[in-house]
Amino acid sequence: KVTDDIYSLELFHGPTLAFKDVGGRFMARLLGHFIRKEGKKQVNVLVATSGDTGSAVANGFLGVEGIHVYVLYPKGKVSDIQEKQFTTLGRNITALEVDGTFDDCQALVKSAFMDKELNGRLLLTSANSINVARFLPQAFYYFHAYAQLKRAGRADNVVICVPSGNFGNITAGLFGKRMGLPVKRFIASNNRNDIFYQYLRTGVYTPRPSIATIANAMDVGNPSNFARVLDLYGGNHAAITAEISGAAYTDGQIAETMKTVWQQKHYLLDPHGACGFRALSEGLRPGETGVFLETAHPAKFKDTVEGIIGETVAIPEKLQAFMRGTKQSLPMSKEFADFKKYLLAVND
Ligand SMILES: *Cc1c(COP(=O)(O)O)cnc(C)c1O
Repeated sequence: KVTDDIYSLELFHGPTLAFKDVGGRFMARLLGHFIRKEGKKQVNVLVATSGDTGSAVANGFLGVEGIHVYVLYPKGKVSDIQEKQFTTLGRNITALEVDGTFDDCQALVKSAFMDKELNGRLLLTSANSINVARFLPQAFYYFHAYAQLKRAGRADNVVICVPSGNFGNITAGLFGKRMGLPVKRFIASNNRNDIFYQYLRTGVYTPRPSIATIANAMDVGNPSNFARVLDLYGGNHAAITAEISGAAYTDGQIAETMKTVWQQKHYLLDPHGACGFRALSEGLRPGETGVFLETAHPAKFKDTVEGIIGETVAIPEKLQAFMRGTKQSLPMSKEFADFKKYLLAVND
C-alpha cells in the first residue's frame, strides 16, 4: 500500500529484480519439460538484448537441461550491472559480445532463424516477448493482485496501471480480464515514447523511432504487442478506449514523482513504476482502487535514482552477487557468416 487508494504490485523479487523473470523462468521450464518428454536433441535459444531481456532469459534458463542459450548484446552499450547479469553465469549460457548495435544483434538472430542450413542442423528457438510462453504466465500475477485486494475488501472497482513499452505486460492483463478477472479498467502509462497514448487520443497508430528516457525499458517506438491489443478488440477503437486509457510523462515528471513519493510516503519508485503511480494519482476516480505494476527494483537504476532523491540506494544482495562475478563473453563480429560459422562449429 503506497497511499490510501494506490497499491504497488512489486514484480521485482525474482533473480534479476524485474518482472521479466516471471515469463523467462516459466518459458524455460516449459521448454525443458517438453524436451524431456519428447526426447529432443539440444535446443538452442537465441536472444538479442539491449539489457534486461537477456538477463531474465539467461537466468530463467540457467541449468535447464537440454537447452543452450546464446545471448547477443552490443559491445559497450549495456550498463555494467546489466552485463554482469548474463555474462557471469557460465554453464549453459553463452554471452556473445557483438561489435555493433542492438539492431545488429537482432539482425543476426533473425538471419539465423531464416538460414536453411543452420536450421537443418540445429534446433533453434527464440525467447523474445512475443513468444506466448513468456507472455501468458504474466496473466497470473494480475489474479494474484486481485486476490490480495479481495482479502483486503478493496476489490470492487479495481483499476490496474501498467508502465508499458512493448505492451506485453498489459496485454497479459487484458487476457486475464477476458479469462474472467473482474478488473474495472486499465491504464497504460508511457514515457515520452507515447505512440499508444496518441493512438488512444486520435485513433491513428503512428510508430516512430524511439527516444531515450530515464525509464529506458519503455523506450519503444513501435510496440510489438500493439497488434495483439487491436486484435483482442476486433480493431475497434471505441472498444479499446472503453477499457484502456493512457498517460505519458516526461523525464522531469517521472523524476518529480519519484522524489515526491519518496519524501511524502517513503516509498521508493523506480522510473518505470513512477509512470504507473503518477497515472493512477492523476486518473483514479472516486470509489476506485488503483494498483500499479512496479516492474523493476529501483537499485537497477541506482545512478538515476540517487541523482533524483539525493540519497544513496542500497543494492540488494542478489544484485551485489552478480557484481562480484567474473565477466565471460566471446567477441563476435556483426557479420552473419561469422555467427553462423561459430554456431555450426560449437554444435558439431
Ligand atoms: C520490459 C520492461 C517494461 C515494459 O514492459 P512491456 O511488456 O514491454 O510493456 C517496463 N518496465 C521494465 C523495468 C521493463 O524491464
